Amino acid sequence: MKPGDRDGYGRYGYLDGDDERIICHECGKLYRALGTHLIKAHDMTAAEYKEAHGLPRGMGLVAPETRRAQSLHALSQVGTPEWERMVEKRNPAAASHARTSESFTHRGVVAERKAATARANIKGVRKPVTRRCVVCGELLTGVRGRATCSERCYHINRYERGAKPGARAWMERRDAGESLSAIGRSAGVSHVAVRVRIEKFRAYLKRCEELGRTPIE
Ligand SMILES: [Zn+2]
Ligand SMILES: [Zn+2]
Repeated sequence: MKPGDRDGYGRYGYLDGDDERIICHECGKLYRALGTHLIKAHDMTAAEYKEAHGLPRGMGLVAPETRRAQSLHALSQVGTPEWERMVEKRNPAAASHARTSESFTHRGVVAERKAATARANIKGVRKPVTRRCVVCGELLTGVRGRATCSERCYHINRYERGAKPGARAWMERRDAGESLSAIGRSAGVSHVAVRVRIEKFRAYLKRCEELGRTPIE
């Protein structure tokens, strides 16, 4: 049997019904929640029922409206965006539309999907992804895809990822009075290259000092 095939009084892999009640695959009756009914009428656990009718193990056997009521109660976080979304979905006008057998089933499936999305959103909110600045460890908020928390940390990170060791030695020789050209000659580079490298290293040292960070050299 594949999802959507006729399966008893419902469809294999689907929890059919409307916003308020769902159909029991075994007997075709409608319930707000199936758990108790399955045991009493069919001597079946919820897990056995889901297994028999191709429903995901994690799926609740509860009508969307009832689930929302339960969620609202469980959330009890009045004022959060999740709460507002749930309240909107309880719009009673939507539930009073005429129900053809077609729309009956379709709306049940749509409602189930929406409920699943809402659950996923709630999980997302409760488990926020925490990312920290790779340089100073500050918690990152706002813009996604950034590895650092500030201009300063950004420049420190860029320097540390790209720099070859030796800049401090050049800086110290320069501070001791040696000329840029002399340092350059000994290293086989131009005096401009020496100057730029020393300037970049000084800027890096200054940022580290401001942050209380130990420089890489
Ligand atoms: Zn039944
Ligand atoms: Zn930082």
